[in-house]
Amino acid sequence: MSFGTESGFEEERHGLVAQVIVDVSSKATNRPFDYAVPDDIASWVEVGSRVGVPFGGRTVQGFVIRLSHYTDVPLHRLKPLQQLLDVVPPLPPDLVELAQWMSARYVCTQTAALQAMIPGAMKGKREKAVQLGEDAIIFLQHPHHSAASLLGEQLELRPASVLDHPLTRELLAYVKRHEPIAAPKLLQAFPDAARLIKEAVQHGWLVETERIKDRIGVKKLKRVQLAVEQAELNELLEALGSRAQRQREVLAQLLEFGGELPLKDLNTSAVKALQAKGYVVVDEVEVMRDPFAHRQFQPSRPLPLTEEQQGVFDSLIEALDAERHQSFLLHGVTGSGKTEVYLQAIDCCLQSGREAIVLVPEISLTPQMVERFKGRFGSKVAVLHSRLSQGERYDEWRKIRERRVQVAIGARSAVFAPFARIGLIIMDEEHETSYKQEETPKYHARDVAIERARQHGAVVVLGSATPSMETYYAARLYGSDTLPRGLEPPAWNLASVAMPTRVGGRELPPVTIVDMREQLKLGNRSMFSAPLEKALEERLERNEQTVLLLNRRGYSTFVMCRTCGYVAQCPECDISLTYHMKTGHMRCHYCGHAERAPSVCPSCESEHIRYFGTGTQRVEEQLARRFPGIRVIRMDVDTTSEKGSHERMLQQFRERKADVLLGTQMVAKGLDFPYVTLVGVIAADSALHMPDFRAAEKTFQLLTQVAGRAGRHDLPGEVVVQTYAPEHYSVLHASKHDYAAFASDELRHRRNQIVPPFCRLALLSMTHEQLPLLVRVAENAAMRLKELAEQHGWLKPLDSHADAVDILGPVASPIPRIKNRYRFQCVIKCRGNVDLSGLMAEAMAEFDSISKEQDIWFSVDIDPQMM
Ligand code: ADP
Ligand code: ZN
Ligand code: ZN
Repeated sequence: MSFGTESGFEEERHGLVAQVIVDVSSKATNRPFDYAVPDDIASWVEVGSRVGVPFGGRTVQGFVIRLSHYTDVPLHRLKPLQQLLDVVPPLPPDLVELAQWMSARYVCTQTAALQAMIPGAMKGKREKAVQLGEDAIIFLQHPHHSAASLLGEQLELRPASVLDHPLTRELLAYVKRHEPIAAPKLLQAFPDAARLIKEAVQHGWLVETERIKDRIGVKKLKRVQLAVEQAELNELLEALGSRAQRQREVLAQLLEFGGELPLKDLNTSAVKALQAKGYVVVDEVEVMRDPFAHRQFQPSRPLPLTEEQQGVFDSLIEALDAERHQSFLLHGVTGSGKTEVYLQAIDCCLQSGREAIVLVPEISLTPQMVERFKGRFGSKVAVLHSRLSQGERYDEWRKIRERRVQVAIGARSAVFAPFARIGLIIMDEEHETSYKQEETPKYHARDVAIERARQHGAVVVLGSATPSMETYYAARLYGSDTLPRGLEPPAWNLASVAMPTRVGGRELPPVTIVDMREQLKLGNRSMFSAPLEKALEERLERNEQTVLLLNRRGYSTFVMCRTCGYVAQCPECDISLTYHMKTGHMRCHYCGHAERAPSVCPSCESEHIRYFGTGTQRVEEQLARRFPGIRVIRMDVDTTSEKGSHERMLQQFRERKADVLLGTQMVAKGLDFPYVTLVGVIAADSALHMPDFRAAEKTFQLLTQVAGRAGRHDLPGEVVVQTYAPEHYSVLHASKHDYAAFASDELRHRRNQIVPPFCRLALLSMTHEQLPLLVRVAENAAMRLKELAEQHGWLKPLDSHADAVDILGPVASPIPRIKNRYRFQCVIKCRGNVDLSGLMAEAMAEFDSISKEQDIWFSVDIDPQMM
């Protein structure tokens, strides 16, 4: 068929039409564009395919979101797809649908949502898109199996659809003769086999390679294979004689491991000798990068569940077996054995032929956590970790897409793991704020997880010892007829299960609260109160370990003049510069601006200008002074920036090479050390005074988490909490491990202030280089928002019992200037049956033209974590 005729709207004459979301970020392009699918690639293109399309005079990357035979575009204007970038579409159809949901919910473009779902390696420069026909090459080669064995027993293992296909054997033989072969050439030879080829690639039976792999590099491994029959081997060993000890060893090793091993694991000169005799062959194969290859995982077996665990497990399995969507809040104290329940539920999920996703906060994606999953499920697990290299990440992702693994564990974005049949999504430490992405698309992984599970009829488990108020409140209202105002309970459908006691009946450790004001009155000006100092001393004597936590929030490393009070600030942003001891530089954490720290004050020329170290640095200094010879591991942003350093430090501490693990939030999460019997909190209340309605909740969570680190094994633990606010309910309830009492107080405060979960929030931010213009625009924007809310009949006080919207501001943002752009914001609150995302989308569409004309940047954050 030909394109470019002048025939107009003759629908019946259309070939296949692809609706494509192009990777051009603007409101105007946030809709699909139609492209003709050329006949020669028609059988390859699917929903979720990544394509190159002509757009505005250049070629851009895009995703096919729908295929049809109809279009409103006149035929002569319908341009053809130029490139198909992958043989197997990177996104399954459910993720394409999820991207549409995200776009509507978070008021972002569809392309932003789609791009968030694919690994960084695939994003690349769109102009350099790969053309099917040049670079998409198919190998007959499974990275883990030799080509020779494929036609034999490997074939028997293939799914029936592939195996039964009449073309299979012919195709295989052809690929084998011609490999590597460009995909279109293969299709030319087998024009009817597109489906078959794709399926074969998807099952990892044919391997597709294209320019992504060139760009990020493919890892190759030299492999040694036996070249002789096993039966002959004994004879050969005899022939080698006793002198060739090394060669005999190599043969024995090869025999033990099924006839092939990486060259690096064998004695090279022995291999060479064997190669010369023709006993072995050496070749090179592509292997998946395995970031955990160097680690041995202790295999673990399911433990007999405690009564509490069994009760929870049964509820989860009932929903899992029913294959219906259901979400659970698993409220279990630290050490109650949540992880064991996750593991056993996942096992059931896998046995039913479905896949599982485990979400953990980035910070607790520690080797210990990975070990527990790898130890139980071995090579069935892919780990998605931001500290992996781009290549490693891409390979882990491919294992998921190609169904070589059934479990994906990772931080926030692992919620997009491209599995086809999800049975279970687990979100551990569901209260963690890192589940919210602060950049566009500003999604919350909890909401996305629930939506994705709904698509798949899957079970969601939100696990926490200290659930967020939103989750706790939604679970409390589960099954009641009255909908909580502001929440969206129909979508959450959140049942509650609990594990209130620790495994083995271990007590939660006793907590001592120390009032630091009293210490001051007693003349103690040190960072350590008398009780903490005494407790530390005892630990040193008994050779036990201590975890010391300093709440990072409220502390920073800045440079200040003691004479005039000058504080070094970023010239582009209204924020103080952070001092980095290693290099002697000061750096802006928002724009990256860096300069040397001054030795005299730029303002008064005094020499009494010095840096105020991070809390942790100062604590470390004081510890060394007070306890000479004490071995301290300091873990904070400064000391853990290097790849692997975090893991190394924890390993050292585990091996008892240090007495004290000192750090920020990082030390509070998920760690499990048998010799830790003391946890000290240096300043419990340092976050309480932040202008953040979640300050009390975060303080309570942190104290509870860190207290859970002590006495998890045979040795009893103790917690000492130093504070200037001993009477604050978050400190008091945390010291008694009383979540219910805290929640009750906190919910009362939230209800009075009308903040979530008693309303929903959106944040509208605006930035510009000139303050007066920005203020004017911000005021107009607030006005316009009010008018729109009024048109819907929503502009009412929030404490009325109607559907209501309230618009606060505009006011300057908490950081009023970043990168030389001033920042203003409005907070939008709503309750009841209000379409908050719809309202914001409407407003943003109107602001689009102002944005272009005046260079004002608008952005929306739905359910913001920070304001
Ligand atoms: P959580 O995730 O709730 O903090 P964990 O799953 O880490 O708790 O369990 C705490 C400790 O109890 C771990 O050392 C774990 O191996 C052990 N444990 C968990 N379940 C059982 C069980 N059923 N029997 C014996 N020990 C268990
Ligand atoms: Zn000065
Ligand atoms: Zn800056």
